[in-house]
Amino acid sequence: MTLYEKEQRNQLGHDWEDRFTFDILLDITGEKALPEDAWRFRGDCSFISPDYNTSIDIHYTDENRQKIMWRKPLINMLIDNAEKHGVKLCFEKTVNYPLTDGKKISGVIVDSQEIYCDLVIDALGAFSALRTNLPDSFCIEKSPERGDVFYAYRAYFDRNDYSGETGIPFEVYLCHSGEQGLSWCCTNDESVDILIGRIDPLEDDLIDFHIKKFRQSHPWTGNSVLHGGHRGIIPVRRPLAIMTAEGYAAVGDSAFMTTPMNGMGIDLSLLAGKLLAETVIKNESASAQVLWQYNRDYHLLYGAQTAKNESLKNSLLNLPPEGVSFLFSQRVVQASDLAGAGRNMNIGTLLGKFRRGMKNPGYFFKVLGGIINGAKLSKAFADAPEVYDEASVRNWQKKVQKQVLKVTRAK
Ligand SMILES: Cc1cc2nc3c(=O)[nH]c(=O)nc-3n(C[C@H](O)[C@H](O)[C@H](O)COP(=O)(O)OP(=O)(O)OC[C@H]3O[C@@H](n4cnc5c(N)ncnc54)[C@H](O)[C@@H]3O)c2cc1C
Repeated sequence: MTLYEKEQRNQLGHDWEDRFTFDILLDITGEKALPEDAWRFRGDCSFISPDYNTSIDIHYTDENRQKIMWRKPLINMLIDNAEKHGVKLCFEKTVNYPLTDGKKISGVIVDSQEIYCDLVIDALGAFSALRTNLPDSFCIEKSPERGDVFYAYRAYFDRNDYSGETGIPFEVYLCHSGEQGLSWCCTNDESVDILIGRIDPLEDDLIDFHIKKFRQSHPWTGNSVLHGGHRGIIPVRRPLAIMTAEGYAAVGDSAFMTTPMNGMGIDLSLLAGKLLAETVIKNESASAQVLWQYNRDYHLLYGAQTAKNESLKNSLLNLPPEGVSFLFSQRVVQASDLAGAGRNMNIGTLLGKFRRGMKNPGYFFKVLGGIINGAKLSKAFADAPEVYDEASVRNWQKKVQKQVLKVTRAK
């Protein structure tokens, strides 16, 4: 197996920390422990409404406190593991196009050189040059639509004197400043981690404006960038319905494998990689039929569940800021909805939400519609045909697409 990566090895991985399930990484790499100093616990978290009047605070216990790890040691563990298992690593090599006769993928063009192989695993990220250049006949979605990805900027600034401050250290601002997206400001021991994420590309002026505003409200934020200070793209949508074809399989961000509400993609990417490897090894084939098993299993295990979360997220993006503030103040949207995929769903909780939400039926029914729509979308994903045949897979894809709730509110 050969891996082509456009960057140099030492440039790989963002210069910031991620939250994910450490046990999944340890299981996949076979390591017993993470490198020293590579990770830490994150502080308590507070979700803040667009009008700044309501906050939903999450106080973690020792058992459930979020853990975060620097991206570079994470990438190093994965690269070392790949190398240990015989993967040939080629850095500073750009994958340009898939090689195809319109029916199957037989290789890739890397820096103008044709390379033939049995299986192309597309892990080139949200705007993959492979996926966007697949033949239309494959029916694999090529480009994300507005609302499908977050354009993010993230920087860790030095931290000045913080003594006397008693607030929750990790603040997440939804529909921040009335804009479609979120921002966060997380005060750490030595730094202040600021993230600005929007569904439209970020202009430099907008980033500067928000950093200045955060400095005013969090005056302990310094001027020197200690880590990050650059942009990234985060898929925040359902996964690709069809992510495989004869000789081709997408994994990770290339197949939009994140949780739409929070953009977490590391767990899902690692799990999908493992699933794909097991499927191909077991069947000793990369035929459309075999790869479809991976495609379907991914949806049954993870895709249907995460897709549910997209409709709620998009219904919130379609509301005006005052609508989101209303839902916050009335606890129609709660921390559990924001952190996961609508887990707080017992009847008592739902009745309470209904009673409070009906104080403004317009906003309430919009978000309720999002939750109901999410359940339908999830069910459609879980109905993926058991066995691959072109016609039934495409019909199923149409049924999935019918349930998608799009972002319609303009900027
Ligand atoms: C600001 C930010 C914060 C995030 N926080 C979290 C978090 O806390 N937890 C979490 O789980 N997820 C988080 N994510 C999402 C997470 O980064 C992704 O889901 C994950 O990295 C997906 O991995 P991937 O390998 O599929 O894609 P990527 O990490 O995008 O890797 C794609 C690789 O392909 C290379 N490449 C691209 N095009 C080419 C080409 N043409 N030829 C050769 N190589 C190419 C790129 O250089 C890159 O190395 C965050 C993302 C961002 C931007």
